[in-house]
Amino acid sequence: MCAIEQCAPWDVVHDTQPRAHQAHQCTECSRTIRRGETYRKIHGLCDGYWATHKICAHCDAAAQWMMVVCDGYPLNSLYDELLEHWRDGFRSAGLFRLIVGMRRRWHDGRDPVPTGVGALARQMLGQVAA
Ligand SMILES: [Zn+2]
Ligand SMILES: [Zn+2]
Repeated sequence: MCAIEQCAPWDVVHDTQPRAHQAHQCTECSRTIRRGETYRKIHGLCDGYWATHKICAHCDAAAQWMMVVCDGYPLNSLYDELLEHWRDGFRSAGLFRLIVGMRRRWHDGRDPVPTGVGALARQMLGQVAA
């Protein structure tokens, strides 16, 4: 079951891709986003609370899998969601690489940023019965 279905939508959201002026921690893999790296910043009001999420380029790329397959995912649970879908029967070497890469925090950001994630997800959707 897709966790996004239980999520309240954002009431206000600013979704930007700034360059880090100082070190931040990735909301999803918790690696350090270093000064000078471009990251995804989601700041907004959701369910009565203001929140800011900073997502590293690697996790942002991996999140495309969730965007294509499930139309989203609850922030701060990308890893759990990818794993959950793996357990639900979405199996491929590409998805496995994303899960393992994330678990290793992308080798502290030294791994290449995953590419072709959207295409991978669309291909997998074609293989898995709804
Ligand atoms: Zn799903
Ligand atoms: Zn990350």
